[in-house]
Amino acid sequence: MLNVVPKGTGWIEVICGCMFSGKTEELIRRLRRAVIAQQSVIVFKSKIDERYESKLVVSHSEHKIEALQVATAREVEELVGDFQVIGIDEAQFIAGELVNVVRRLANRGRRVIITGLDTDFRAEPFEPIPQLMCEAEVVTKLMAVCHRCGAPAHRTQRIGAGTDLVQIGGQEQYEARCRSCYVPPDESGERTGQAGLFDSE
Ligand code: ADP
Ligand code: MG
Ligand code: ZN
Repeated sequence: MLNVVPKGTGWIEVICGCMFSGKTEELIRRLRRAVIAQQSVIVFKSKIDERYESKLVVSHSEHKIEALQVATAREVEELVGDFQVIGIDEAQFIAGELVNVVRRLANRGRRVIITGLDTDFRAEPFEPIPQLMCEAEVVTKLMAVCHRCGAPAHRTQRIGAGTDLVQIGGQEQYEARCRSCYVPPDESGERTGQAGLFDSE
C-alpha cells in the first residue's frame, strides 16, 4: 500500500497486473484520497473501452469516478490543464507517445497515476506499461484470484476466440489465472485457455 505522497515535486505511479487484479479500484482509492487532501484531480480513460458508462472509470467491483475519454496521449496533454493529480486508466489502450507525455507532466510537477496490463494474453510485455514502470518512482503490481483454482493469479487468460492483441471484454472473454492454470495460446491452438484442456491430455 502506498503511504508516501510527493511534496513539491512531480512523480509517476504505475499500478499494473493482470485483469481483475484491482488496478482500477486502487486508482480510484488513491484519487479519492487526493480529493480529500484538496488536490485537483483529473482522470482519463481510453475511448476504446466502452464496456461501462463512457464518462466514468468503473472497476469490476462497481467503484466509479468521473473521467474524460481520450484516444491519444496528445489529447491527455492538451486537456490536462492545471490539475495537480492526473489519473490514467488502462494505459495500454491509449495510442501515441504516452511515456513522453507522462514524463513531461511529472517533470512539470504533476503527480501522474497510471494503471494498465503489464502483460497481454500471451504473457508478453504489453507496452507502454513496461516502459512506464521504468520511468515511474513507484510501481505496484497486483494479483487477482485464479478463476480456476483460487490461487493468487498474475496472468490474463483469453477464453474467447480471437488472436488480436486488443480485444475488449470482461469475464466472458478473459479469466485471471495462476502460473499452473495459465495456458499459453500457442500451446492450446484454437481452444485457447479452455478449462479442462490439461485434464484431458
Ligand atoms: P482491474 O482494473 O485490475 O481489471 P478492478 O479494479 O476493475 O480490476 O476490479 C477488481 C475487483 O474485481 C475485485 O475487487 C473483485 O470485486 C472483482 N473480481 C472479479 N473477479 C475477480 C478475480 N478473479 N480476482 C480478483 N478480483 C475479482
Ligand atoms: Mg481496470
Ligand atoms: Zn490456478
